[in-house]
Amino acid sequence: MENKFINTTSIDFFGMNHEKILFCQDKKSGLRAIIAVHNTVCGPALGGTRMWNYVNDQAALTDVMRLSRGMTYKNAISGLNLGGGKAVIIGDSKTQKSPELFNKFGEFVDSLGGSYITAEDVGINPHDMVHVYEKTNHVTGLPGKKGDPSPITAYGVYMGMKAALKFQTGSDNLVGKKILVQGIGHVGLYIVDYLHKEGAEITVSDINSDLVQKTVAKYGCNHVHPDKVYDVDMDIYSPCALGATINDTTINQLKCSVIAGAANNQLMDEKLHGEILFQKGIVYAPDYLINAGGVMNCYAEIHDISDAKVMEMAGNIYQTTTDILTSSRNENIPTSLAANRLAEKRISEESEKLK
Ligand code: NAD
Repeated sequence: MENKFINTTSIDFFGMNHEKILFCQDKKSGLRAIIAVHNTVCGPALGGTRMWNYVNDQAALTDVMRLSRGMTYKNAISGLNLGGGKAVIIGDSKTQKSPELFNKFGEFVDSLGGSYITAEDVGINPHDMVHVYEKTNHVTGLPGKKGDPSPITAYGVYMGMKAALKFQTGSDNLVGKKILVQGIGHVGLYIVDYLHKEGAEITVSDINSDLVQKTVAKYGCNHVHPDKVYDVDMDIYSPCALGATINDTTINQLKCSVIAGAANNQLMDEKLHGEILFQKGIVYAPDYLINAGGVMNCYAEIHDISDAKVMEMAGNIYQTTTDILTSSRNENIPTSLAANRLAEKRISEESEKLK
């Protein structure tokens, strides 16, 4: 097993200030992975493992660094005693999985001595985690425990969406509101269910046409081709597929007054696109704030917190979203910046306690 360890404690690599980055390679099982521990001031770094066929290693490194930093902010703003970390396994999740590969990955996770706790992310399921668990205890999202975090994530997003609508229009009533859900996978489908129950006018979009057909048949909602999403007139845009859908091109096409979805890293350039949305008067509910239900579920698994309590924690996303949007208005700054400031405040308070 080759183990190349970079300790970045004293160097601000790429301006993101990571604590540790571990490159993992095992030729026998074919494992190639990167684990990034961004910050452990609030507690051990927790964040899922993504399995993805990256175009090259640099793309994998960039992804894991951005995602792990996002986890630091997400965990801090959610008041959890957790830091931020993430892992990526480089490979095709449909053809390259094996128990040996996940065993080796588990050994690497274990070598970090609990400073990183893993879970599922895109391309990984609870069954894969069982093989990681054979080699380390630092795992959440195991079958028979809290399980799939998507329903809790969806509930938190729904709460954040309602808070953002109330902030924008004075009412959080979704009846008749035109809402486009982009990506109806694990989280998006639960969101559609909440919106349907409340009487919203839903449009869905997904690259998986079978899924679209089934969803339209079940909920009687509208659908739109993935290329036409930004032509649709909507009250709320809910990005629930991949990140960076708000970018230089789409930002001028979007016809909505609220953005609230589950996808991570929705803004391609957080500073620039956060500022433009703010200037346009589009209320953007910060992604890592409203999609934190999933990590709350992992936290509950570690600390044996009841399902009812986790739902209560996810329900509090409504109030936190209101607080962030209010401070954005009062301080005349983008909502993404207001969220970052609150997360950084918590990290700095925890850091003071450690001194
Ligand atoms: P998923 O893979 O189950 O669903 C994603 C869906 O998006 C799929 O149905 C896919 O076909 C669709 N999609 C991909 N590209 C698309 C495109 N260009 N246009 C339209 N649809 C497209 O993933 P998920 O677990 O539902 O997560 C969705 C997003 O939420 C991801 O960005 C994920 O990182 C984030 N997130 C998920 C959780 C969770 O609990 N699962 C928690 C926090 C954040």
